[in-house]
Amino acid sequence: MTNSRTSLSKSQLKSLESIFPGDSMTVAPAEMLIYGTDAGRRFSLPWAVVRPESVEQVQELMRLADRERIPIIPRARGTNVVSACVPDQGGVVLSCLKMNRIISIDPDDFTALVQPGVVTADLRQKAMDMGLFYPPDPASMSVSTIGGNISTNAGGMHAVKYGVTGDYVLGLEVVLPGGETVTTGGRVHKNVVGLDLTGLLVGSEGTLGIIVKAWLKLLPGPEYSATILACFENEQKALRAVQNIFRSGILPCALEFLPAEVMDCLAGYGPVPWPGTAGSALIIQIDGTRPSVTHELRTVRSAVKGCLHLDQTGQDEEDRIWAIRRLINPASFSLGPDKISDDVVVPRGKILDAVQGIRGISRKHGLKILAFGHVGDGNIHVNYMYDDSDPNRKQKVEAARQETLRLVLDLGGSMSGEHGIGLSKKPFISWQLGSAELELMRGIKKVFDPHGILNPGKGW
Ligand SMILES: Cc1cc2nc3c(=O)[nH]c(=O)nc-3n(C[C@H](O)[C@H](O)[C@H](O)COP(=O)(O)OP(=O)(O)OC[C@H]3O[C@@H](n4cnc5c(N)ncnc54)[C@H](O)[C@@H]3O)c2cc1C
Repeated sequence: MTNSRTSLSKSQLKSLESIFPGDSMTVAPAEMLIYGTDAGRRFSLPWAVVRPESVEQVQELMRLADRERIPIIPRARGTNVVSACVPDQGGVVLSCLKMNRIISIDPDDFTALVQPGVVTADLRQKAMDMGLFYPPDPASMSVSTIGGNISTNAGGMHAVKYGVTGDYVLGLEVVLPGGETVTTGGRVHKNVVGLDLTGLLVGSEGTLGIIVKAWLKLLPGPEYSATILACFENEQKALRAVQNIFRSGILPCALEFLPAEVMDCLAGYGPVPWPGTAGSALIIQIDGTRPSVTHELRTVRSAVKGCLHLDQTGQDEEDRIWAIRRLINPASFSLGPDKISDDVVVPRGKILDAVQGIRGISRKHGLKILAFGHVGDGNIHVNYMYDDSDPNRKQKVEAARQETLRLVLDLGGSMSGEHGIGLSKKPFISWQLGSAELELMRGIKKVFDPHGILNPGKGW
């Protein structure tokens, strides 16, 4: 649905007010400003913002919206970087942040039942307090929510061993346009009855239904962890060491790659622990029982043998090394006040080609581009640093970005491993997906949302 309306009618406003009394709804432009944007940094003012506290309110809203063809834009913390929450066709923003209860954590079933607005780090902490482990850890987890993580299938630093959010979603309760509520899956860890509706909803960017409850899988927590920072003369040696690590039978729980540009940027920002001759680095984390970690550390050390510099720490001091990784984001802004951040993926064996290809694109356009990240998944964060007020630079960034996406696809990769499509990658989706696949997706959207009221214009 492309919406030609520009606001709500008086009677629609009245109906909304009856579902959302008091401050559970606003139409004040000053209050709605923040709901017009997200970390993707586009902007469009919504017609209204509602903040349901109950499933019944969501059902009533969806009944009204479907009947009156009002676009609904589900939203949680707005940390997605692809403008997936921007109401660019107008409509009502549905904030999920008031539905934020951890309903139960069951230590016998190893499951949690939560509302969508629960902050991911809060669930991880509560599970940890009970000796349980919820592994997905997007870098935004101290603010982003379970509903947002499910709808983007968020990954994180530990995905190489533990997988992504979708690997932990056992079931969902979802309100569809029209108000009907469906339950997919539940507390069981395996379930192959019928089509995988849970899987369809995971990563659907708010286009199929409103998630109002989620059953999540928990694991026993690892007892101990340790981290190695290994620095190499060049990236060929670093990436050979990555292959050696995997071939030695070790599955690290995190494996991060820093090329020369990132190390130079960090060195310009503050003190760094590596020698000036280092041209690439790996951060490798191992977890498990204490004896298994001790054993695996020995194996990793032999896999990175010949590196220029090695720093190893047990669990108590690991943060010293991980702090370096966390500094990449603030340090990157010393290269330019603005950033476009993509998250491409290539087959693991093609990482060197991707990093070198992106370097070539950066030189061709005279741009500062940092390409680094989750080397264990082939998931490379590509940060284009520039000044948004310079139209010439902006144009060059857009050209470089498109060339990078083409490069990645030529290498057999994907244009997104974590962030999704939203508005920002939508123009390029047909570069990756064929018309038959897109038609299937649009057909599925029609079955869930026949009038196209849910997050219109996003994704596919
Ligand atoms: C500093 C920073 C670091 C980040 N690090 C990572 C990272 O390591 N890994 C990663 O994968 N991403 C990362 N991201 C991106 C972002 O945090 C994730 O996409 C996250 O999952 C979004 O969660 P949110 O709660 O902010 O959701 P929002 O951004 O509010 O929404 C995301 C999508 O979910 C939909 N949605 C939200 N709630 C519901 C619901 N209840 N029902 C249906 N649809 C819903 C929205 O419509 C939207 O399409 C990062 C972002 C920032 C700013």
